[in-house]
Amino acid sequence: MHGKTAVITGASSGIGEATARRLAAEGYRVVLVARRADRLAKLAAEIGEAATAAPLDVTDAAAVKAFAETLESCDVLVNNAGGAVGADHVAVADPADWLAMYQVNVLGTLHFTQTLLPKLVASGAGTVVMLSSTAGHISYEGGAGYSAAKHGVHAMAETLRLELFDQPVRVIEIAPGMVKTDEFALNRFGGDEGKAAAVYAGVAEPLLAEDIADCVAWAVTRPAHVNVDLMIVRPRAQAAQHKVHRVFD
Ligand code: NDP
Repeated sequence: MHGKTAVITGASSGIGEATARRLAAEGYRVVLVARRADRLAKLAAEIGEAATAAPLDVTDAAAVKAFAETLESCDVLVNNAGGAVGADHVAVADPADWLAMYQVNVLGTLHFTQTLLPKLVASGAGTVVMLSSTAGHISYEGGAGYSAAKHGVHAMAETLRLELFDQPVRVIEIAPGMVKTDEFALNRFGGDEGKAAAVYAGVAEPLLAEDIADCVAWAVTRPAHVNVDLMIVRPRAQAAQHKVHRVFD
């Protein structure tokens, strides 16, 4: 992978951070995107000269455009920045939460994809990875806003693949189930540690960020003509969204 560049959004924590470490280990130059500059700088220092920090907000189209202009080339784009806000039923959900989820998950992905597409095409063998979720394929009570946003990511991935059928760019969707990361559930529940812990309660082995990084790395390092359209990945304990094996003492 010598000389190839991978841009990873949401690299300041969780799946994005693990993916950045993994792709750097695979030999990519990695460009780390998220809002928290301090965390990106720390990660870039740990990875070493293969990493560059690019602090910005993916919902800010002008900032994304300015960033893209500084980038010489791009072979891989991992659209990972995103998350859930709240778990209210439709009857009482706050439209502001839904808007925030749409902006980061859908429009953030759109901004990066649109802006880097010319460079991905110019690479001759570009890859766009979209981190959706199993929530982008099913529905669950309290999940409508997040599910709607992730269905949006799924629709974008499917559409982009069709639109790029004659271009040297593949589009890979990775849809994880339950992944235990430090911040996802905390952010969803406004910092409520009890509610966040309940998400993973009794589950002996939820997926970890490194498991998804492994999936991303595998899909991205297949030969350029091999397009893994969609990978749905759950922990063994989660046979379906609602069917989770939990053991309590
Ligand atoms: P984290 O909360 O750990 O990571 C989210 C990342 O996105 C952070 O680096 C955050 O950085 C970044 N981010 C959020 N908003 C913005 C923004 N406006 N601009 C730039 N960066 C932003 O979550 P996970 O690692 O668990 O999740 C990563 C992705 O995987 C998300 O898209 C999530 O929806 C998806 N996913 C997660 C699952 C899980 O169970 N954990 C399951 C299925 C899918 P910063 O705050 O510094 O900007």
